[in-house]
This record gives sequence, structure tokens and C-alpha cells, in this order.
Amino acid sequence: AEQDGSEPSSAIQVCVRVRPLNPRERDEGLRACVSFDEETKQVVLSAVDKNTLLQLRGATAKGYAFDRRYGQDITSDAIYDDCVAQLVEAVFKGYNATVLAYGQTGSGKTHTMAGGQGIHGVVEEGVTPRVIRHIFALAEAIRKKEKPGEKTQVSAYGLELYNEDLRDLALAGGRDETAKGWDGKGGCGSTLKLQERPVGKDGRVVPEVIGVTERVVSGVDELLNFFNLCMDNRSTSSTKLNDRSSRSHAIFTITIQRTVVEVLNELGSDLKAKVRTSEFSSKLHLVDLAGSERVKRSGVTGKELKEATHINSGLLALGNVIVALAGDDTTSGGGKDGKAEKKKATHVPYRDSKLTRLLQDSLGGNSLTVLISCISPSESDFEETNNTLKYANRACKI
Ligand code: ADP
Ligand code: MG
Repeated sequence: AEQDGSEPSSAIQVCVRVRPLNPRERDEGLRACVSFDEETKQVVLSAVDKNTLLQLRGATAKGYAFDRRYGQDITSDAIYDDCVAQLVEAVFKGYNATVLAYGQTGSGKTHTMAGGQGIHGVVEEGVTPRVIRHIFALAEAIRKKEKPGEKTQVSAYGLELYNEDLRDLALAGGRDETAKGWDGKGGCGSTLKLQERPVGKDGRVVPEVIGVTERVVSGVDELLNFFNLCMDNRSTSSTKLNDRSSRSHAIFTITIQRTVVEVLNELGSDLKAKVRTSEFSSKLHLVDLAGSERVKRSGVTGKELKEATHINSGLLALGNVIVALAGDDTTSGGGKDGKAEKKKATHVPYRDSKLTRLLQDSLGGNSLTVLISCISPSESDFEETNNTLKYANRACKI
């Protein structure tokens, strides 16, 4: 990808967004167990209930430090300006970028990424519609300065990743979602294939989803409509297949492709100035991750009932990749050193899940990532909130 001189400040940014208590929680008299300590920059979990783990362990409060903390009154607009807008700008400079919304079901991931009517009854635009407007504002500004032969193209695709099955969200009703395999129970007739195409000599690969509908779009409304279509297809399928949308990752990817004509300072044999045409492409992934809550899986072996709680395998792999990348930042000293870059590539466990394979050229290295950790304030969600903060904190601890 095309790069200019200015390096982005930090490859992975982690922030926390707490939603308001919802009407059900308020009706049940549940209290908030999350607060912010502005002095220590900590998100503080306080045990208000005698039975919470925290009190059982004899502690009174648990704090996690985060640079960016967004309380229940902070809008998606403000979050966009604070940490997402810079990614869109970076994408036009040739960087790949990823925005991830992480958290348990009901914590505000979809509200943050797509928008909708919030708990207070106010309809809020999410991060993705803001991204779409910003992208076209920047694309239009570039187009005004383009020379003959130059081009800036915007395209997008939507994917749902459920149990390691990839589905095209552009296709109404899904790609034959009644087909075998779609519920993850066998067969793979309707699943898209993920392939890795090697580029250059340094072992880098570009992930490609074979056969996904990539829509070239010419303006804000067209891209907004396409995004909404993808989101509708995701929710339609989730009502048919129980619990699907909370267990699946939704990935909306916008690609900017530019053709740039360079006039070389030299005349050709026909006495016309020589030109060199180059193509650059970079992408922005907007990811509404699967619910991070631990899922109980039970299996009966003889008379014995075994039960364990599992985190979604994609989220587990993503956490490990992010930790590996965050850890490497200290040793590579900014990543300019060729050796450090190579070492980085061999140590990051991208291959452990389709989610991390799909995002591998847009996490770490020369790309920018924002992880928005969404949490519930309710004391009834104490444990899951603690898990989310632990996960997010691992990602920003260096
Ligand atoms: P998730 O996608 O994580 O399962 P949702 O985004 O669907 O959760 O949020 C659950 C409910 O809470 C929705 O009705 C949503 O509108 C509301 N909500 C979430 N976050 C906020 C917020 N920050 N402000 C107001 N309402 C919110
Ligand atoms: Mg959701």
C-alpha cells in the first residue's frame, strides 16, 4: 500500500464504553457497579452485591486503566471523532484499519457500530454510517485533484462468520441458508472460502474471500443502503436460527482503490512526457463481534454430566493475536527495523481462527486497530463485565 511519511501513533487503541442501565434492569432494582476514576484513568468495578466474586475474595473494588473511557452520556458521534475518524484518514494514506466492537450480548456493540434507538429512546447514528460519510467526503476531495487517468474507487462487502462458516451478507435471505452446513452441523455447500494470496517476497499474504459480493459504490446513499441490506440480512437469519446473531461476527469491509498517474520528468521517444501508473488499495474492516459471554456447553458421558464454559474461539484467537501484537510493539521500536517486522510475523498466531486469518493484514504491522469494549453497568453482569475489562486490558497492557 501507498505510505506517506507520517506514522500513526499507536497500532492498537483500546477504549471502554458503558451503556446506561436499561428499563428491565431498573425495574428489577439493579444497581450500577461500574464507575470511572478520572484521576487514575481507571474503570472501577465495585461489588454492590454480597455474592459477587469480588467480595467473596475479600476485595472491595477492582480497577482497570484505559486511556479512553466513554460513559453512558457519550454519543457514538463523539466516539467516532475521538478514535475512529483517524482510521478513515489513515486508510486514504494507504494503511489498512480495523474497528472492533467487543462485549457480551446486550452491551451495545451493534448500537455502537450500526446505531439505532437507544435506551433513552433517542435514535443514534452508529460508527459505520459516520465512516461512510467521511469516506466519501475524502474521496470527493481527492477526485477534484485527479489527473486524467486517475481514479478513486470505493467498494464494500459484508460477511457473517458463524462457527467458522463464512456467509455473504449481501445475498437476500443468505446464501441458501437452509442448506446443510449453514447451522454449523455439517456440509459446507453454502460457505464461502477464505484464501490467502501471497504478495511480495517477505511472506506477507492477503486474505481473500472467494466469490463474496463486492459492491462498487458511487456515493454515500448507495453505500449506506448496502450496509443496511447486510445488517437486515444478518438479523433476518438470526430470528430463524436461534441465537445466531449473538454467536456470529458481522464484518463489513470497505475498500478504497486508487489509480495514480505519476508524470516522470523525462520525455519519451514521441516527445510526450513519460507517465507511470500505479494502483493502491487499502481497506477498513468494521466488525461487530460475537457476544463475549461464556457459553455453557454440556456433554453427557455415561452418568456423568460434564459442563464447561467457553469463550467463542474467534474471540479467543483475536485476543491472543492482539496481545502478541501489543507485546511486540515494545521490542520492535516502531517497526521500522526489517528484522523486527519479520519476527513479528512469525510470532502472531493469526492462523488459529478464520476471524484472525480474515483480518491478518489489517491488525498490527502497518495497520491501525481500535477495539471498542462495550460493557453493561448492571451488577447482574458483574462477572461478564469483569471478563470484558480483563480481555481489553490485556490488549493495552505493554
Ligand atoms: P449487542 O449488540 O452488544 O448485543 P445492542 O447494541 O443491541 O447490544 O444493545 C442492547 C440495547 O441497548 C439496544 O436496545 C441498544 O439500543 C441499547 N444501547 C446499547 N448501548 C447504548 C448506549 N450507549 N446508549 C443508549 N442505548 C444503548
Ligand atoms: Mg448485536
